[in-house]
Amino acid sequence: MINGESIPVDKKVGSFVIGATINKQGSFYYKASNVGSDTMLAEIIRIVKDSQGSRMEIQNLADKISSVFVPVVLVFALIAVIVWLTVGTYYLGFSESFSYTMLAFVGILVIACPCALGLATPTAIVVGIGKGAEKGILIKDAKSLEKLYKVKKIVFDKTGTVTKGQPKVTDVIIKDDRYTKEQLISYASSIESKSSHPLARAIVDEGLRVKLVNKKVINFKESEGVGVSGEVDKIPVSIKKPDTKEIENKEVKRLQEQGKTVVLVEIDKKIAGFIAISDTVKENAKELIEGIHNLGIDTVMLTGDNSRSANYIAKAVGIKNVISEVLPKDKSDVIRKLQNDGSLVAMVGDGINDAPALMQSDVAIAMATGSDIAIESSDITLLGGDIEKVFQAIKLSKATINIVKQNLFWAFFYNVVGIPLAAGVFYPIWGIFLNPIFAGLAMAGSSISVVLNSLRLNRIKI
Ligand code: ADP
Ligand code: MG
Repeated sequence: MINGESIPVDKKVGSFVIGATINKQGSFYYKASNVGSDTMLAEIIRIVKDSQGSRMEIQNLADKISSVFVPVVLVFALIAVIVWLTVGTYYLGFSESFSYTMLAFVGILVIACPCALGLATPTAIVVGIGKGAEKGILIKDAKSLEKLYKVKKIVFDKTGTVTKGQPKVTDVIIKDDRYTKEQLISYASSIESKSSHPLARAIVDEGLRVKLVNKKVINFKESEGVGVSGEVDKIPVSIKKPDTKEIENKEVKRLQEQGKTVVLVEIDKKIAGFIAISDTVKENAKELIEGIHNLGIDTVMLTGDNSRSANYIAKAVGIKNVISEVLPKDKSDVIRKLQNDGSLVAMVGDGINDAPALMQSDVAIAMATGSDIAIESSDITLLGGDIEKVFQAIKLSKATINIVKQNLFWAFFYNVVGIPLAAGVFYPIWGIFLNPIFAGLAMAGSSISVVLNSLRLNRIKI
């Protein structure tokens, strides 16, 4: 239920397991790390509940209109009373005009009751957010649903968002003959075992694959968006982004042009070699980007990685604009610049380094497979790391807003048409007068039609 996984997934000692899934073979011990209100399910329920009670900007408009509307209606009802009593008495005699006065007064108050106006937005929000949750789109605040369809630019992080975030080591290049490939990986995986970066995991997995045992690491340091350093067996080792000089290396260039991320390994303060890591693009990424372009929305890839590999990945999925080699702290500046021309910008990310950019964006979308801090900074969380849900979320946003607008129209339409009718304005001309019983019916009818219209969201295809 949590990740929508339909194919069995291999689990090893130390793997995370999710509650309420099926263990196909054998048995195992597991430790419950989060129980009760700490579980992901409880968190999802909390988010959905909170957000269904949140408000849209448009609701403030409806409230403002209501606050003017009610006194205007009261004045109108009083005018009707005065006119019926004076003009009516003159033409009809007092006793008959008095009953018309009462009919008009009660009729106006009943039909003008703005309850449908009050229901128009919240009912659509409840249904829209509920529908999103059903599809694995967790919306934290109704305002993001209101803004999403108006977004003009969507910024995607590369690793873990456009790519699967399960990178693998593909090449090891030795630059210093004192080390073998195995030794290089041994140093690298020892030090990367302290980091939780996707690239670090790839290097650690490679170490496990060739059955290396990690050495002891001291003085470990990680600089976000740059790399890691420390001492392995008292020898200083660092793994980092190759700088401008090393990028000109023919082999590095070739690997980067294949979309691989190349990191530099320094042992004892000298370049020992390079490790190339490749991550596959998510299967449905290309269709998603195409769909987004068809909606007239621009796409941008934002990454700390090298421009060659970034360009390769961007091209593979059809993203036109690439902003690469951006340090995590500068990612939010990039978003700010994109917002400069007044367009709403959405950011889709997963990593710790994406959190500032997510905070800066107008609509922040995080992958539930990503870091907790990214999820915490987001307005919308996509379960199962499925980026196709970005497209569905945009459609849901549009559909919900359409329903809200229809609701507001119908709520008003009833009132505007009903009030003169109830006041008996048409009585002298056509002899039409709205009986308060029908006014009551129409009033209930408008609320029912608003609720039914909101429920229609459930059947709209996204
Ligand atoms: P992204 O924006 O694609 O998520 P990051 O900002 O996390 O990328 O990292 C940018 C670059 O910094 C990486 O491509 C890599 O060269 C280097 N880097 C960051 N962390 C590590 C690490 N733990 N090990 C090796 N290299 C790293
Ligand atoms: Mg990332």
